[in-house]
Amino acid sequence: MLFDLHSHSTYSDGALTPTELIQRAELAGVDVLAITDHDTVAGITEIITDLDAKPDTTLQLLPGVELSSQWHGTGAHGMGVHIVGLNVQLDSSELQDALTRQQQARYDRAAIIADRLRKKGFPDLLPAVITAAGQGTIGRPHFAEQLVAIDAVKSSDEAFRRYLGAGKIGDIKNVWQALEDVVGWVRDAGGTAVLAHPDKYHLTHTKLRALVGDFKAAGGEAIEVVSGHQIAYKTKNLSDLCELNNLHASCGSDFHKPGQHWAEVGKHSTLPDSCRPVWDLW
Ligand code: AMP
Ligand code: MN
Ligand code: MN
Ligand code: MN
Repeated sequence: MLFDLHSHSTYSDGALTPTELIQRAELAGVDVLAITDHDTVAGITEIITDLDAKPDTTLQLLPGVELSSQWHGTGAHGMGVHIVGLNVQLDSSELQDALTRQQQARYDRAAIIADRLRKKGFPDLLPAVITAAGQGTIGRPHFAEQLVAIDAVKSSDEAFRRYLGAGKIGDIKNVWQALEDVVGWVRDAGGTAVLAHPDKYHLTHTKLRALVGDFKAAGGEAIEVVSGHQIAYKTKNLSDLCELNNLHASCGSDFHKPGQHWAEVGKHSTLPDSCRPVWDLW
């Protein structure tokens, strides 16, 4: 059975509609797919409620979401951390309320980013960013796209390096709720909280252990031991961390768009046999 438990659609910063994403996953041999858009469950809700939108497939869909949270406050040591919620109840009113607040926070943050970029001499990018985000939640990748479109940078990567990434003007503090609260929303909605892509935070081993400890204490149940195509020693480190903390293991591609071979749907590295997979919990 091939599980891909982390992927994005046009409902956040992904390039494919949920239907296109499911078709691509099926072609890649995925048996179970979680669509985990940033701070929204609209994509999966569309597939479930609009039968015309549902492709003819044997693939099993899991309701998921990738929530932005803040770990360690907003001081010098604070940082953004992503929590994937799997198997959440889509009609949970607590979750729906939380998602509405997250989306408002994303909108407010976008206005601040646009303002700061304007003060740097760029045109007001907010209208174009809102249009580009369309039905999806607004994110920094939409700003990156616009910075490329106006020739301010050559690539999204450069946009993050110069303007949007950690410590740059597009890195806005005070946006997300505490990690503990966000994990609580997932649990209140009957879901499983998974610490997303621990390697992407570029933490020292000591800090990563502290993060995993706090996540577990908050009620987190699994960590993404595999995120995309991953070098073997990283998988080993993360599976050791999993075992040490008595957590389950998840895996996913973090697919956003075609052409990124390191994050292609269904093409992520395999979970080590020693791990207890997160789906054992269901
Ligand atoms: P946001 O959700 O607005 O905080 O933006 C985070 C998203 O930006 C991630 O989910 C990635 O899809 C994307 N991202 C993060 N870092 C980079 C980067 N260096 N280059 C391109 N995209 C990135
Ligand atoms: Mn993303
Ligand atoms: Mn993420
Ligand atoms: Mn993601």
